[in-house]
Amino acid sequence: MTPPMLEVRGLTRRFGGLAALSEVSVRVPAGRTLGVIGPNGSGKSTLINVVTGHLKPTSGTVLINGRDLTGARPWTVAKAGVGRTFQVVKPFRGMSVRENVMVAATYGAHGRTAADAAGLATDVLARVGLAGQAGRAPAELSVADARRLELARALALEPRLLFLDEVLAGLRPAEIDPALDLIRALAAEGVTIVVVEHVVRAIVEVSDEVLVLHEGKVLTSGPPDRVMADPRVIEAYLGH
Ligand code: ADP
Ligand code: MG
Repeated sequence: MTPPMLEVRGLTRRFGGLAALSEVSVRVPAGRTLGVIGPNGSGKSTLINVVTGHLKPTSGTVLINGRDLTGARPWTVAKAGVGRTFQVVKPFRGMSVRENVMVAATYGAHGRTAADAAGLATDVLARVGLAGQAGRAPAELSVADARRLELARALALEPRLLFLDEVLAGLRPAEIDPALDLIRALAAEGVTIVVVEHVVRAIVEVSDEVLVLHEGKVLTSGPPDRVMADPRVIEAYLGH
């Protein structure tokens, strides 16, 4: 039996008296896309941060491809083939766009020569639509291009499990469909994806399953159509 690519059991993270994440359990089979939605402050980014090692869990278990990586450091999680974007973009400021992607390509899970990393960086920049901005400083990028750079850095790791934290935020309507096409293309290549979004329509279009968080807890999960028709989900959104 192949294990799920991601399995989270009873994951809890407290900040003082606040349970940002409370007893969350979810499984994502290899090659599938899980959408995570929920109102602001419902724990979506905290879930990504705990799973990718950027926050320690208060309790619970994180298994990646069957391997217990609970509380592991970000570097260890990345080396296990896990890529992520940050909701608040975090490029290396002193490097060009291309150099930022090169760093990820060089130090990813696969151990690459400089020449291979350069080729991969070129491919990834073209794929996210940043080929023309490769020589710029990250600070010069538009909001949308800064998000593309985040995505490029995550893709340069050639992840088998990829977490996307609101990568559509700040995109113009015309830019959303190409971004969704890219997510679908990655899924078709076998990448397991966890996509966190505020844009509910986008989630429904790309996800095999949807998980709804509310005040740190799982409100419901299941196929997109069923979840979106759930009165509790509608209430959780309208109630905020
Ligand atoms: P979402 O991504 O769904 O908008 P977050 O996971 O960012 O929500 O936040 C969930 C809750 O945890 C919020 O109430 C937020 O203020 C709180 N929180 C998140 N990160 C921290 C932190 N580092 N320190 C204190 N509180 C935090
Ligand atoms: Mg968030």
